[in-house]
Amino acid sequence: MQTRNLKVLIAGGGIGGLTALLALRARGIDAELFEQAEAFRQVGAGIQLSCNATRILCRLGLGEALARVCVYPEGRDYRAWDDGDRLYYTPLGGRAETEFGAPYYHAHRADLLDVLLYGVDSKGFRLDARIDGFDQSSDGVTVTLADGTKVTGDVLIGADGIHSTVRGQLFGKELPRYTGNVAWRGLVPAERVAHLDLGRVTGVWMGPNRSIVQYYVAAGRTFNWIGISRSKQPARESWLAEGRIEDALAEYSGWHTTIRSIIAATPRVLRQALYDREPLPDWRVGRVVLLGDAAHPMMPFYAQGAAQSIEDAYVLAGCLATSPDEPEAALERYVGLRQPRTAWMQGLSRREEELYQMTDQAAIAARNARMRSNRTPEQATFPPEQIRLYGYDAEAALQAA
Ligand SMILES: Cc1cc2nc3c(=O)[nH]c(=O)nc-3n(C[C@H](O)[C@H](O)[C@H](O)COP(=O)(O)OP(=O)(O)OC[C@H]3O[C@@H](n4cnc5c(N)ncnc54)[C@H](O)[C@@H]3O)c2cc1C
Repeated sequence: MQTRNLKVLIAGGGIGGLTALLALRARGIDAELFEQAEAFRQVGAGIQLSCNATRILCRLGLGEALARVCVYPEGRDYRAWDDGDRLYYTPLGGRAETEFGAPYYHAHRADLLDVLLYGVDSKGFRLDARIDGFDQSSDGVTVTLADGTKVTGDVLIGADGIHSTVRGQLFGKELPRYTGNVAWRGLVPAERVAHLDLGRVTGVWMGPNRSIVQYYVAAGRTFNWIGISRSKQPARESWLAEGRIEDALAEYSGWHTTIRSIIAATPRVLRQALYDREPLPDWRVGRVVLLGDAAHPMMPFYAQGAAQSIEDAYVLAGCLATSPDEPEAALERYVGLRQPRTAWMQGLSRREEELYQMTDQAAIAARNARMRSNRTPEQATFPPEQIRLYGYDAEAALQAA
């Protein structure tokens, strides 16, 4: 079924933009996506896909494709940086799937991209198509591409990431906030770390001023780690740069041998400065609206940026399908449904930095004592934020609205 006459333009082919293309098509809405790069690309790294995101991807028909490429972790295992003592544990695997009705996965970003491209049948987009700006009237929106081409539609979705051009034109070009942290990212062939007996968990290691999260991806063939450390703001040209293994080892000097062995086994590391923004109260002007990192970039401590962009995409498509004749009202309803949840997530992700990377010895001792009350895997329970996060059902939110 084709929803009457509505044509949606999407700026940006990241996880958010591609999911929007898929979700709109699933609702019978004509959509076209414009990606500035010559090919779809994700940084070479892993990604956690929480139940709130996989519930949507499964609903969009990608459940089997995801299950083939992802890893199904049993739990999240929090450890102390120096002696590796378990501090805390939260269940994932079968318990999370039963509790929240969808699987929790770890994926290689390239695999997730392939699954999304399979979902859209590799159609409905233009590559090497940078949107430089747009004009809108009460009837529609026209985007101008870098080569001067103009394309007109009824709605424009800015899914063009943290440095969004669409956001800049809507609300002014404000630079994102440097969070005071950089991320180190590495992928290791699984056989190089097999002797470390790392287990099928999301490993979270907490230390003063830095932390590390690590897990298997690519159906278990590759091991992924992300180290976050407090650091002076790097130069703009090194926001995303090749790092040196010896620098990563120096950053994690004195850490448990498991962590140092993983880093030492890594062929190549990336070093990336982390930015976020304050919550934006509104994401829409007329027929133009934001989605994903363009609307609400956040720190990665809750592993929710992509998940929130997937939720956005699904809810936005649902709102447009319900009132295709009133796209502005549909966009307003979408923002009303999504802004409070993502603003909450942005704030929570910032606060989590201190929990993960605290330096005061007394505070660390108090944190560890608190956390240790929930560290036996068989008895561990879901903390309230996880219930609110993973239990969110975008379809139910749409129905309720
Ligand atoms: C270290 C780290 C770890 C993370 N881990 C997780 C995790 O485990 N789970 C999770 O859910 N999230 C995680 N995230 C967050 C997640 O990566 C992002 O939130 C997500 O990728 C945002 O997707 P997006 O589609 O909104 O934006 P982007 O991925 O930034 O995509 C934007 C796209 O738009 C294109 N573009 C930009 N400008 C234009 C233009 N003018 N015209 C056309 N195209 C344009 C870009 O080329 C790009 O392809 C992590 C982030 C970091 C930094």
